[in-house]
Amino acid sequence: MPDYDAIIIGAGQSGPALAGRLVGAGLKIAFVERKLFGGTCVNTGCTPTKTLVASAYAAHLARRAADYGVTIGGTIKVDMKAVKARKDGVVAKSRDGLENWLKTMEGCTVYEGHARFVAPNKVAVNGQELSADRIFLNVGARATIPEIPGLDQVPYLTNSSMMDIDFLPAHLVILGGSYIGLEFAQMYRRFGSDVTVIEASPRLAAREDEDVSHAIADFLGEEGVDVRVKSEVVGVEKQGNSVAVKVQSDGKTSQIVGTHLLVAIGRRPNTDDLGLDKAGIATDARGYIQVDDQLRTNVPGVWALGDCNGRGAFTHTSWNDYEIVAANLLDNDKRRVSDRIQAYALYTDPPLGRAGMTEAEVRKSGKSALVTTRPMERVSRAVEKGETKGFMKILVDRDSKQILGASCLGLAGDEVIHCILDVMYAKVPYTVLQRAMHIHPTVSELIPTMLGELQPLQ
Ligand SMILES: Cc1cc2nc3c(=O)[nH]c(=O)nc-3n(C[C@H](O)[C@H](O)[C@H](O)COP(=O)(O)OP(=O)(O)OC[C@H]3O[C@@H](n4cnc5c(N)ncnc54)[C@H](O)[C@@H]3O)c2cc1C
Repeated sequence: MPDYDAIIIGAGQSGPALAGRLVGAGLKIAFVERKLFGGTCVNTGCTPTKTLVASAYAAHLARRAADYGVTIGGTIKVDMKAVKARKDGVVAKSRDGLENWLKTMEGCTVYEGHARFVAPNKVAVNGQELSADRIFLNVGARATIPEIPGLDQVPYLTNSSMMDIDFLPAHLVILGGSYIGLEFAQMYRRFGSDVTVIEASPRLAAREDEDVSHAIADFLGEEGVDVRVKSEVVGVEKQGNSVAVKVQSDGKTSQIVGTHLLVAIGRRPNTDDLGLDKAGIATDARGYIQVDDQLRTNVPGVWALGDCNGRGAFTHTSWNDYEIVAANLLDNDKRRVSDRIQAYALYTDPPLGRAGMTEAEVRKSGKSALVTTRPMERVSRAVEKGETKGFMKILVDRDSKQILGASCLGLAGDEVIHCILDVMYAKVPYTVLQRAMHIHPTVSELIPTMLGELQPLQ
């Protein structure tokens, strides 16, 4: 007899919710977490960064107070200890609530320790072996540390250790000009640090369309973030209390000296110390656990959810994974990963909200498409708020009239994108959204107007 009906490893975004559903269905479960309940999102990802972004925004707006006719006496100062304390308070509330919920959940036994497979249906935690016919992996990912000469000889920060900072780095050098690096870059610039971003690709956020990348580089540059693209880091060394980063760009080598170094070049799955070989669970070349459209691994009775399966890298994709697994197991509802539409946001200010295909992807697909764009300078809500950076772009399939994708880089772009995303899920022609009466004055009210201005994609 197995010890439990199910074992869940990892208290990220899908594991705890799944525990609630399984227990509700009468299953006896073991829940294993090795460190912080809530995982990356709650402790070192979305929640703390967006809380810090809010502090940075307050500082930025205070500096711009005169633009709005508001007088603030003296210079704007940022109290980094108070900023961190505010962030810690928000994080602790979320983590403690989740931990308490799991530990008091009837039918759920929590084990605090690192779990490893010892057999396909058995894991060991703190020297104790637990067995179950169903095992769910929600083990997440961590920062990738590249093999750069000298990096192991200098102190460097990741998204996790950044959470302990309660002082202002004089000069923060960030390796990586993508989503994580850019949020930290703008945030610390607004706190008052000098910030340099080093990116190997020819542009920032290189997966986005060129116009989006350039607009982001423009507003970060205007705020004083030093952006170095097409720059390969070839070495790092300590120089007194500083860190020197050697960079090659266009065949020339130069040096950037900062007081602190943040490594934000990507993520890798936490699958290297999970004993997957003992269970025969297959991974791809980068260590992501291979799953099918219902998130089943190659070993019957083992599922992988969240960042560790390589099918998404967001809190909402991990949460959607939970919904898919629960629907298939408990509701006889055959939900699939392939049902979902790509969607995410970048929380710079202004934020970027994205849904579906980029313009580059549409072009590559060879589809006959229509496009409409509008600068935020022509959105009255943005003008009224004095926040007119960015633009919105929507792409439509000319034949089916369905929306293919959108990028909303501008005020409330992370919210506005949802009116487009929901119409994409509804699989209705764009004309349904074009005829909707939206509220004035909002950014979203311009979406129907934009859809009335579609032009062939040249
Ligand atoms: C700086 C940053 C900002 C981000 N911002 C956003 C954002 O704004 N929006 C968004 O959607 N996404 C964001 N993300 C991504 C998001 O945080 C993750 O996609 C999300 O947390 C999903 O993670 P998960 O459920 O796969 O697992 P995680 O949240 O990574 O949790 C995995 C858990 O498993 C535990 N674990 C691992 N191995 C074992 C083991 N062997 N035994 C026991 N326990 C184990 C870990 O301790 C951890 O608690 C951000 C990420 C970072 C780094």
